[in-house]
Amino acid sequence: TVGAVVLSAGRLAASASTGGIVLKHAGRIGDSPVPGAGFYVERGVGGCSATGIGETILLGRPCVYAVELIAEGVPVEEAARAAVARHTQLFGSDNLGIIVLDAKGYAAAAMNTQGMPIAVAGQLKPNVEPLMLWGGGGGA
Ligand code: ASP
Repeated sequence: TVGAVVLSAGRLAASASTGGIVLKHAGRIGDSPVPGAGFYVERGVGGCSATGIGETILLGRPCVYAVELIAEGVPVEEAARAAVARHTQLFGSDNLGIIVLDAKGYAAAAMNTQGMPIAVAGQLKPNVEPLMLWGGGGGA
Protein backbone atom coordinates (compact mmCIF):
# COMPACT_ATOMS: atom_id res chain seq x y z
CA THR A 1 0.00 0.00 0.00
CA VAL A 2 0.91 3.58 -0.52
CA GLY A 3 -1.35 5.51 1.80
CA ALA A 4 -1.44 9.08 3.01
CA VAL A 5 -3.34 11.17 5.51
CA VAL A 6 -3.11 14.91 5.06
CA LEU A 7 -4.13 17.99 6.99
CA SER A 8 -4.11 21.08 4.82
CA ALA A 9 -5.80 24.42 5.42
CA GLY A 10 -7.74 22.81 8.23
CA ARG A 11 -9.12 20.01 6.10
CA LEU A 12 -8.33 16.33 6.38
CA ALA A 13 -7.96 13.81 3.58
CA ALA A 14 -6.92 10.18 3.52
CA SER A 15 -6.06 7.78 0.74
CA ALA A 16 -4.84 4.28 0.04
CA SER A 17 -3.49 2.65 -3.09
CA THR A 18 -2.34 -0.91 -3.58
CA GLY A 19 -1.44 -3.69 -5.92
CA GLY A 20 -3.26 -6.08 -3.61
CA ILE A 21 -1.79 -9.15 -1.96
CA VAL A 22 0.16 -12.03 -3.45
CA LEU A 23 -1.87 -14.93 -4.85
CA LYS A 24 -5.03 -12.84 -4.86
CA HIS A 25 -8.05 -14.17 -6.71
CA ALA A 26 -9.03 -12.49 -9.97
CA GLY A 27 -11.56 -9.77 -9.21
CA ARG A 28 -10.51 -9.34 -5.60
CA ILE A 29 -11.03 -5.75 -4.50
CA GLY A 30 -9.46 -5.70 -1.05
CA ASP A 31 -9.76 -2.92 1.48
CA SER A 32 -7.74 -0.12 -0.06
CA PRO A 33 -10.43 1.37 -2.35
CA VAL A 34 -13.16 1.07 0.27
CA PRO A 35 -13.87 4.12 2.45
CA GLY A 36 -14.15 2.99 6.04
CA ALA A 37 -11.77 0.09 5.39
CA GLY A 38 -8.51 1.04 3.68
CA PHE A 39 -8.92 4.68 4.63
CA TYR A 40 -11.27 6.86 6.61
CA VAL A 41 -11.72 10.51 7.50
CA GLU A 42 -14.14 12.27 9.78
CA ARG A 43 -14.24 16.00 9.23
CA GLY A 44 -12.80 17.96 12.11
CA VAL A 45 -11.75 14.77 13.92
CA GLY A 46 -9.10 12.72 12.18
CA GLY A 47 -8.10 10.43 9.37
CA CYS A 48 -6.41 7.08 8.89
CA SER A 49 -4.91 4.93 6.15
CA ALA A 50 -4.30 1.20 6.48
CA THR A 51 -2.09 -1.42 4.95
CA GLY A 52 -2.12 -5.15 5.48
CA ILE A 53 -4.36 -8.10 4.73
CA GLY A 54 -7.45 -6.51 3.26
CA GLU A 55 -9.82 -9.29 4.26
CA THR A 56 -9.14 -8.54 7.93
CA ILE A 57 -9.21 -4.77 7.42
CA LEU A 58 -12.61 -4.91 5.71
CA LEU A 59 -14.01 -6.90 8.62
CA GLY A 60 -12.28 -5.12 11.49
CA ARG A 61 -12.34 -1.52 10.18
CA PRO A 62 -9.41 -0.39 12.31
CA CYS A 63 -9.36 3.07 10.69
CA VAL A 64 -12.95 3.76 11.66
CA TYR A 65 -12.25 2.52 15.15
CA ALA A 66 -9.16 4.73 15.53
CA VAL A 67 -10.98 7.83 14.32
CA GLU A 68 -13.96 7.10 16.56
CA LEU A 69 -11.60 6.95 19.51
CA ILE A 70 -10.15 10.32 18.55
CA ALA A 71 -13.69 11.70 18.38
CA GLU A 72 -14.13 10.50 21.97
CA GLY A 73 -11.04 12.44 23.02
CA VAL A 74 -8.47 9.67 22.96
CA PRO A 75 -5.00 10.98 21.95
CA VAL A 76 -3.97 9.94 18.47
CA GLU A 77 -1.13 7.69 19.59
CA GLU A 78 -3.38 5.78 21.97
CA ALA A 79 -6.06 5.56 19.31
CA ALA A 80 -3.61 4.04 16.83
CA ARG A 81 -2.29 1.64 19.43
CA ALA A 82 -5.77 0.59 20.54
CA ALA A 83 -6.96 0.06 16.98
CA VAL A 84 -4.02 -2.22 16.18
CA ALA A 85 -4.33 -4.04 19.50
CA ARG A 86 -8.04 -4.69 18.88
CA HIS A 87 -7.29 -5.86 15.35
CA THR A 88 -4.59 -8.21 16.61
CA GLN A 89 -6.98 -9.67 19.15
CA LEU A 90 -9.55 -10.29 16.43
CA PHE A 91 -7.31 -11.58 13.65
CA GLY A 92 -3.87 -12.32 15.05
CA SER A 93 -0.71 -10.45 14.07
CA ASP A 94 1.15 -9.73 10.84
CA ASN A 95 -1.85 -8.23 9.09
CA LEU A 96 -2.07 -4.48 9.80
CA GLY A 97 -0.28 -1.16 9.77
CA ILE A 98 -2.05 2.19 10.13
CA ILE A 99 -1.17 5.84 10.04
CA VAL A 100 -3.47 8.20 11.90
CA LEU A 101 -3.67 11.99 11.96
CA ASP A 102 -5.97 14.16 13.99
CA ALA A 103 -7.44 17.52 13.12
CA LYS A 104 -4.82 19.33 15.20
CA GLY A 105 -1.95 17.75 13.26
CA TYR A 106 -0.93 15.12 15.77
CA ALA A 107 0.06 11.88 14.07
CA ALA A 108 0.83 8.31 15.01
CA ALA A 109 1.61 5.05 13.27
CA ALA A 110 1.12 1.55 14.59
CA MET A 111 1.48 -1.93 13.18
CA ASN A 112 1.36 -5.53 14.30
CA THR A 113 4.16 -6.80 12.10
CA GLN A 114 7.79 -6.08 11.40
CA GLY A 115 7.14 -6.38 7.69
CA MET A 116 5.57 -2.97 7.09
CA PRO A 117 7.94 -0.06 7.09
CA ILE A 118 6.06 3.20 7.63
CA ALA A 119 7.61 6.45 6.48
CA VAL A 120 6.59 9.71 8.06
CA ALA A 121 7.25 13.01 6.34
CA GLY A 122 6.35 16.64 6.78
CA GLN A 123 5.81 18.72 9.85
CA LEU A 124 4.18 16.58 12.44
CA LYS A 125 3.53 17.03 16.13
CA PRO A 126 5.09 15.32 17.96
CA ASN A 127 7.91 13.48 16.19
CA VAL A 128 6.30 10.26 15.10
CA GLU A 129 7.83 6.97 16.06
CA PRO A 130 5.85 4.02 14.73
CA LEU A 131 4.52 1.83 17.48
CA MET A 132 5.44 -1.78 16.94
CA LEU A 133 2.71 -4.03 18.22
CA TRP A 134 2.45 -7.72 17.73
CA GLY A 135 1.76 -10.96 19.54
CA GLY A 136 -1.81 -10.70 20.80
CA GLY A 137 -2.39 -6.99 21.08
CA GLY A 138 0.03 -6.40 23.89
CA GLY A 139 2.52 -3.66 24.55
CA ALA A 140 4.89 -1.81 22.29
N1 ASP B 1 -4.38 -3.90 1.95
C1 ASP B 1 -4.02 -4.39 0.62
C2 ASP B 1 -4.98 -5.44 0.20
O1 ASP B 1 -5.33 -6.29 0.99
C3 ASP B 1 -2.63 -4.92 0.57
C4 ASP B 1 -1.64 -3.85 0.88
O2 ASP B 1 -1.41 -3.57 2.05
O3 ASP B 1 -1.11 -3.27 -0.07
O4 ASP B 1 -5.33 -5.47 -0.95
